[in-house]
Amino acid sequence: MNTFYIHTFGCQMNVHDSERMAQLLVGQGLRPVGSPQEADLVIVNTCSVRAKPEHKALSEVGRHQQRKKTEGCRIILAGCLAQQEGHRLLSKAPYLDAIIGPDAVWRLPEILASIQDGHGPVIAVDQHDRDNPCFVPLKIGSIARRSQEPDFAKATSGRFAVPSLDKPQGIPAKASALVTIMKGCDNFCSYCVVPHVRGREVSRPAEDILREVKALADAGSREVVLLGQNVNSYNDPESGTGFPGLLEALDRQGAVDRIRFITSHPKDLSPSLIRAVAGLDRVCEHVHLGLQSGSDRILGLMNRGYTGAQFLKMAAAFRRAVPEVSITTDIIVGFPSEDDEDFKDTLAVVRAAAFDQAFSFIYSKRPGTAAGKLPDNISRQVKLERLSALQSLLVELAADSLSRLTGRIHPVLVEGRSLRNPDAYRGRTRCNRVVNFAAAQFLRPGETVNVHVVEVRGHTLWGETKVDPNLPCRVGDDG
Ligand code: SF4
Repeated sequence: MNTFYIHTFGCQMNVHDSERMAQLLVGQGLRPVGSPQEADLVIVNTCSVRAKPEHKALSEVGRHQQRKKTEGCRIILAGCLAQQEGHRLLSKAPYLDAIIGPDAVWRLPEILASIQDGHGPVIAVDQHDRDNPCFVPLKIGSIARRSQEPDFAKATSGRFAVPSLDKPQGIPAKASALVTIMKGCDNFCSYCVVPHVRGREVSRPAEDILREVKALADAGSREVVLLGQNVNSYNDPESGTGFPGLLEALDRQGAVDRIRFITSHPKDLSPSLIRAVAGLDRVCEHVHLGLQSGSDRILGLMNRGYTGAQFLKMAAAFRRAVPEVSITTDIIVGFPSEDDEDFKDTLAVVRAAAFDQAFSFIYSKRPGTAAGKLPDNISRQVKLERLSALQSLLVELAADSLSRLTGRIHPVLVEGRSLRNPDAYRGRTRCNRVVNFAAAQFLRPGETVNVHVVEVRGHTLWGETKVDPNLPCRVGDDG
């Protein structure tokens, strides 16, 4: 095996697991390639939060079956579906060489050796790995090198493929790097499979996190995104410090310019977290708070631990303390027994919360969850109608939110070239909005520039680096 390709489904945790697998494979001397057809090893990193990505992942592995017969490529299925189904997947896909749960990622070199010695298929979904996770930090090359790579855009998209490296010393740094601070979840929301497949919450020692962030900064990253299923319940196993304390320590460390975090459970949103976002210069003005439903009855059935009114109170407190904050969310429609009144409540809370951006989904029954035992009694037609009505409202709110950002100068962290227009650059505001912009000078990923945002184009902003000294600058500009 000389080359590999990783196809990633699902959330940022999976994207980060793919980065770690890529690093381990590069460390074994394998070379990343830009398409699965060129690869000796294909890894499909799966998501099982909803039925759709699960089906897509299975059809993706199926596509490589023929190549395995004719060219002898190897196929590994990783991620949450692997953890959930384990060896049962072999009855659907007997050609798999390995099935690896998210917490067995660090065992990849040993698994590859077993496969090559003819000991496959390897099943690595042990409870031991789940309860004692190994937080493999990324080993990274320099960011300058990555900016010259033609595969830069592809490497940062959902289909993860890192650019070629001369030496297998690690994967190139990104302007914005992902850092796992905890794994698992104790919340057991009734619809969610995560606690069942990723296990209970385990926080990573703050000292390890600080060390990894410093290493990323030394390699060129200017922003870190702290990852966890519910970062609000982070608790340093050594000092007992909570999440706001971790943010303070990272801010004080001063290694990176920007600190972000996902995801926050509304029930654990504390005044001290709001104060941390308001008061710490490096912590960006963005919070992702999953609403899921605006109906108190449905929220109860979902085991979410708050009401619509309590959610709105939290959102209002956040906006009062951090006027520039962008609040994003997730919403599910068509949960079992959701009626028209429940759905109206959702629309009302969504409008009142004035979300800046949202991900909306149709409820998907998941095996092993509490909601999976309830009758999935909302017709497909009604679910689609509700999703469409919700999305119309979200489009309206997102357009309002974007238009409020126009006509002003924003410090934008450069991520690379625009995905659609190679003559333009792409970056993010502190409130996590994508800005495509023209610049006369050559810019490297990781630089922060002041961009005058002039208009909304689709779901993104368009701007230019030409600065008008008469325009007001945002408080906290760092460019
Ligand atoms: S907080 Fe709820 S939705 Fe989020 S991962 Fe945990 S159980 Fe799933």
